[in-house]
Amino acid sequence: MLTVTDLSVSYGLHRALAGVSLKVSPGEIVVMLGANGAGKSSLLRAIGGICEGKASGRIELSGQDLLSQKPDRIVEAGIAFVPEGRGIFGDLTVWENLLLGAYSKRGQRGKDKNLKWVLELFPKLVERKNQVARTMSGGEQQMVAIGRAMMANPEILMLDEPSLGLSPLLCSELFGNLAHIRETGMGVLLVEQNAKQSLAIADRGYLIENGSITGENSAAAMLTNPAVQVAYLGGSTPRAEISQEE
Ligand code: ATP
Repeated sequence: MLTVTDLSVSYGLHRALAGVSLKVSPGEIVVMLGANGAGKSSLLRAIGGICEGKASGRIELSGQDLLSQKPDRIVEAGIAFVPEGRGIFGDLTVWENLLLGAYSKRGQRGKDKNLKWVLELFPKLVERKNQVARTMSGGEQQMVAIGRAMMANPEILMLDEPSLGLSPLLCSELFGNLAHIRETGMGVLLVEQNAKQSLAIADRGYLIENGSITGENSAAAMLTNPAVQVAYLGGSTPRAEISQEE
């Protein structure tokens, strides 16, 4: 289980995250909703060890404290990250990207099983295995990015706005794939603007405002929460107080 406790991140004098705590269990999809600038990317980047700010607090996976560890050590511990903009190697082929995803000792251990699983999940990548990644469409590149992260054999997969720039059809496909990934027992921490589709596949959600968690609930309860509907689902109910865990 990933447990984040009292995590704060500052960029110079600007505090982007203040005392954030959350949990992601194996086989659980957790979505983090928040407006632009709320601190969502800072949160994922701090967990992934690539935040440019100064972080404090505790980030724990299976008993190991990962706060401010190097990114490769975090991957080795079992956290893989698909950053906003995907972070694939554009000049390499699909196949090379996938195999590079398994560079860690941890990735090497599960390589054959994970490759089989990634290709079952994204059969299109088999047809396109020799294609240079940057020549692929946005949706195809997202498959490569997720596949590459899965090749690291993670316990927790983090994705920052994976649906950004995808057509409605590709979005639906993406969220369907994430629901399948959960079946492997992997925990998924997802930052999304697409609240409706992400909550539809998620187990739980958190709301983040100005660097602090302001709400936490089951995804089903969040979908029907009037304040969430107004802020994130295009609803028209007046803003109401968002309940903490019921
Ligand atoms: P968006 O949805 O727009 O990507 P976000 O919720 O992911 O926003 P962050 O990118 O985490 O928010 O940014 C939170 C705050 O921290 C913002 O005020 C942002 O300007 C600031 N910030 C983020 N990265 C840096 C950085 N490298 N240096 C300075 N300030 C930063």
